[in-house]
Amino acid sequence: MIGDREPARCPTPTPAVMTRVAVRGLDHTCWKCHQPTMCVVAVHTDASQKSEDWVWFEDKHALAFARELLLNTGQTRLAETIKRRFSHTARGAYLSNGCGHCDTIQGDWPLGRAISDYGLAAPLSELPILALGVVAEATWSHLFAGQTTRRHGYPMSWDNVD
Ligand SMILES: [Zn+2]
Repeated sequence: MIGDREPARCPTPTPAVMTRVAVRGLDHTCWKCHQPTMCVVAVHTDASQKSEDWVWFEDKHALAFARELLLNTGQTRLAETIKRRFSHTARGAYLSNGCGHCDTIQGDWPLGRAISDYGLAAPLSELPILALGVVAEATWSHLFAGQTTRRHGYPMSWDNVD
């Protein structure tokens, strides 16, 4: 009998598993104009409270991801400080933080050092949260798996940093 048969299962799209992410900043002093300026330094999920589980700004996908989250939360001015700038040290252009006052590049190397110094004095969990957003878990996993830079506690070795 037809009635005894299991109804055909329509493939229903699985709703994407979502995860909450945070963008962290660092109160920085511009090396050029010496004014305080906020730099965008890391992204992480609610579940990852240790710095090992964060993805840092040297990873350009992470910095672009953070820029998008800032735009999504209406922080256009801060988001626009993140752009490609020429670095004499790197002898090329890369996606970088810039001063909110004079637009000068805040280079990856000195910024990395500033975070290291910060980490020695205070828990990284005290870095200010600049934006919160909700993204697909898969988006985060992809970003995390593809990261090129990790910070495994402090102080870290700088041997492999350009
Ligand atoms: Zn400046």
